[in-house]
Amino acid sequence: MRIAVVSDVHSNLHALEAVLAEVDAAGIDELWCLGDVVGYGPRPNECAALLQERTAICLAGNHDLVVTGQISLATFAGEAAAAASWTKQALGDEARAFLESLAPKAAAPGAELFHGSARDPVWDYVLSDESAHWTFLATSEPLILVGHSHISLRFSPGERGATADAGTTVELGGARQLLNPGSVGQPRDGDPRAAWLEIDNESHRATFRRTEYSVERTQSEMREAGLPEVLAERLEHGI
Ligand code: ZN
Repeated sequence: MRIAVVSDVHSNLHALEAVLAEVDAAGIDELWCLGDVVGYGPRPNECAALLQERTAICLAGNHDLVVTGQISLATFAGEAAAAASWTKQALGDEARAFLESLAPKAAAPGAELFHGSARDPVWDYVLSDESAHWTFLATSEPLILVGHSHISLRFSPGERGATADAGTTVELGGARQLLNPGSVGQPRDGDPRAAWLEIDNESHRATFRRTEYSVERTQSEMREAGLPEVLAERLEHGI
């Protein structure tokens, strides 16, 4: 079976649709999402509906928990807070019910999934070898998947963690691996293309993927919606 793992879609429908088109063209069997379906971007309801329909597993991220009121809006500041209150108002009943049904962690055969980390599935970032170490200690499955940082990353016990460019492949089935697919809707690693991860359980390989989409279309929808300009601007730089 092949699985596409996405994360941090952040209401960026054009990025999500471009990734799903590639996932479908590649004949990938299953879709998992590591959370932050909404927040920052202009199309929360459409992204929630698509992910509700398409995912076998979908986690809640901190943004999802804030817009549904499960976490206080006061935990956010600046543009994140402005976008979260915009999203709260824009969210329809169905999207809200879907987001409310999600949890920030899940398990699948051979894998454990967290939005943040095993130490704190909602807020903790796995960005260093030390933080990866704590999550390896707190888990037991061979494959650990995390999102939240918006940076494509790979960690393995006893090795230095590294960022993972498009096309990077990781052998599964040997040493344990902790992988972050990067962000579909707001990449922060300097590559503005939508990031995702393909897992092939037969060849025991994971491959980091990037997909081009129309950044301009998402930006103009954000400007129309009155979302903070800095959030639109950053999409073209992938920061
Ligand atoms: Zn996020």
